[in-house]
Amino acid sequence: MTAHVHVVGAGLAGLSAAVRLADADVQVTVHEGAKFAGGRCRSFYDDDLEVVIDNGTHLMLSGNREVLDYAALIGGTENLQFSPRAAFDFMDLSTGRSWQLDLGIGQGALSLVPWMFDKSRQPPGFSIYQFVKDAQRLKRGHGQNVSACLDTSTELFRNFWEPMCVAVLNTSPDQGAAELLWRVIEKTVLKGGAFARPVLASNGLGAALVEPALSFLQDCGAIINTNQRIQGLEFSGGKLNTLRFADAGEVLGSGDRVILAVSHIHASKLIDGLKIPMDSNAILNVHYKLDEAVAVPRMVGVVGGACEWVQLRGQVASVTVSNANAWMERDADLIARQLWDEVVQVVGLQGDIPVYKIIKEKRATFAAMPEVNAQRPSTGTAYENLYLAGDWTNTGLPATIEGAVMSGRLAAETVLEDLN
Ligand SMILES: Cc1cc2nc3c(=O)[nH]c(=O)nc-3n(C[C@H](O)[C@H](O)[C@H](O)COP(=O)(O)OP(=O)(O)OC[C@H]3O[C@@H](n4cnc5c(N)ncnc54)[C@H](O)[C@@H]3O)c2cc1C
Repeated sequence: MTAHVHVVGAGLAGLSAAVRLADADVQVTVHEGAKFAGGRCRSFYDDDLEVVIDNGTHLMLSGNREVLDYAALIGGTENLQFSPRAAFDFMDLSTGRSWQLDLGIGQGALSLVPWMFDKSRQPPGFSIYQFVKDAQRLKRGHGQNVSACLDTSTELFRNFWEPMCVAVLNTSPDQGAAELLWRVIEKTVLKGGAFARPVLASNGLGAALVEPALSFLQDCGAIINTNQRIQGLEFSGGKLNTLRFADAGEVLGSGDRVILAVSHIHASKLIDGLKIPMDSNAILNVHYKLDEAVAVPRMVGVVGGACEWVQLRGQVASVTVSNANAWMERDADLIARQLWDEVVQVVGLQGDIPVYKIIKEKRATFAAMPEVNAQRPSTGTAYENLYLAGDWTNTGLPATIEGAVMSGRLAAETVLEDLN
């Protein structure tokens, strides 16, 4: 093909779009404003910790088909580590009680029946009746928040639905859109343990999802320009005609297309009048350097504490606080001390607080509220050669890696259809 497609933004949405297009022999140029690719899903060497860390712990599930297909295409699968079972360790810090949610390895909703009758594999307070009732209400919860659909007074809510909602939507149950939580549950947990096994990037997000994509693109002859922020878009005659950089402009050819794969915040600055989800929720991560590397990565969900997850990987213990807007202005040292106390309790580490790195992502995801979800734009725009991708576009999924990769694939497919 002779058409040239510009992809603006080398987060996972942009990379996903770019690799699909390059794979279809389309000439692609990626313009990334930062010095590195990966966006909100990136790895980097930290001078204080002296190791490579991810900006935040990212959990994926084996039912994330979009991510797995993308990883297979770019050659990143070998850096994804699949847990053998859909088993998640949890600890309630208010009671000291630990349990494992173990959905097993079966395929299909019926494969969950043994789990439903096995107390040793369930969260405390699990009841089949309540679980089925909650799931049905969630399914019918279009336009409602999660708390409005579920019985929030149950132990099942506290030990299962609430942690699930905050982890998946980065939004509290009082605000989070029931339909977005339902979509994730439907595609993972309710399809059986085979689709809900935790998937971790064993050598970091970069090694699994970013660097292989850059190599793939280079092998296909694509151009990747980092440190090249688009400052503005110029339109005329119903089309985008110029990409404006700090010191120059690139005038588009008549058949050229542009996929804008920047975050919801940046997109609104580039396109006047674009309807986008405006509110954002933060995620806080603290990474602590351990004296010794752990032999096997481990992740523990936390109930009744300040954090949601503690992950041990290599020589780092990483703590995640989701829906963390209230934490953004707090003192770093106080944050690190408070969360270190939780790490000590949850994974049994000893000793004083080690060297740490705090990463505050103020606009980690759009706030997944029903009214915000209803505003999400689709791939196509009012301009015939401009397309949108990003976790905030209307994928039907929350702001996740799965949603970002899906949005890129959808944008690439739309461009390919239009080019043909
Ligand atoms: C701390 C944290 C933890 C998370 N945990 C999970 C998790 O456990 N599981 C999960 O599935 N998801 C998780 N997510 C969400 C996931 O990371 C995002 O949904 C996904 O990375 C979004 O990808 P994207 O490509 O849509 O956007 P981005 O990653 O934001 O990519 C947009 C890119 O565009 C670039 N850009 C912006 N403006 C311009 C411009 N003007 N010109 C050129 N380039 C520009 C940016 O630099 C960036 O690289 C987490 C996110 C964070 C922040």
